[in-house]
Amino acid sequence: MKTLRHLGGILLGAVGLLFFFSSLGQILAPTEMSRWNALLFFVTLGCLPILCAAALLKRSVMSVHYRCCPECGSADRAPAGMMLKRGNWWVYQFGGWIIASLWGASRENQVRCVRCDTLYFTETRGTRIAGIILWIVVLFFVIAEVLDSVQPQ
Ligand SMILES: [Zn+2]
Repeated sequence: MKTLRHLGGILLGAVGLLFFFSSLGQILAPTEMSRWNALLFFVTLGCLPILCAAALLKRSVMSVHYRCCPECGSADRAPAGMMLKRGNWWVYQFGGWIIASLWGASRENQVRCVRCDTLYFTETRGTRIAGIILWIVVLFFVIAEVLDSVQPQ
């Protein structure tokens, strides 16, 4: 159920984002669609799914499971403060800097145990949010690409 809500939220977010931008384009540069129709589209198909997605994903972000220290089991941790190379060459090549930086931000953070100084990796709210945005952006481009290819020329 949790996974389903998570996936549903991401999918809704991507679809909403797609309608958000396409109807925004219609409002700014109306073609065959009237401005009022475009505005209606914008609100119902663009903003509404994004709000629903945010509601669905909120709990997912709030329920991030922080890992405890593998050595002593303590939950007290501090940021490790070490700069790690987090970019991925392949991601950068195929996704550009937006995807690459979201990818980097969605990787688990290194933290330091306050009690025994052990360094370990854990998920944080920030990595969870970056991961969600990453998937929404990826899906957004995939759907846009598919729609573009099925559209008659
Ligand atoms: Zn520890």
